[in-house]
Amino acid sequence: MLGIPLGLITANATEWVVHKYVLHGWGKKKNSFWRFHLSEHHKNARKHHYIDPSYSRFPLGNHAQGKEAWALIAGCVIVTPLLPITPFYVGTLYYSAWNYYSKHKKSHQNPEWAKENIPWHYDHHMGPNPHANWCITRPWFDHLMGTREVFYTKDQQTPAKAKPVTTNTA
Ligand SMILES: [Zn+2]
Ligand SMILES: [Zn+2]
Repeated sequence: MLGIPLGLITANATEWVVHKYVLHGWGKKKNSFWRFHLSEHHKNARKHHYIDPSYSRFPLGNHAQGKEAWALIAGCVIVTPLLPITPFYVGTLYYSAWNYYSKHKKSHQNPEWAKENIPWHYDHHMGPNPHANWCITRPWFDHLMGTREVFYTKDQQTPAKAKPVTTNTA
């Protein structure tokens, strides 16, 4: 049963590392496979006030949503040999991959839901610093690593003009 919390921690660390170093790191290079995150996803979200209309298309194609989905599927395949050894751990990773895709998609189709449920990801796209707030489903590793920058708050009417408030005390 220890596999469940360990799986959730692994998945959250993976969100943080992959988003920061792969999607925003390698993805900066012009011909990178990972470029879709900045050149399609971030661009769309800024253009449409956090909505990414591309999430309404079929996910398994040669585009941002397809690459995101295939990367998650590949991750699940890679950990599958561990399934007989540690089923709860691997099962939690499968759940986390599905949870990541569905929450990310839902948030970019419904900004109000995003502000309510994953405000750190709203901050990532709509705040003044896109190089912070790396977690998507839960903000654990951002808090741990000091990269959670609170930008949007509920009573803020015009978040795009407000100054960010950092929780990084380091
Ligand atoms: Zn990003
Ligand atoms: Zn996003």
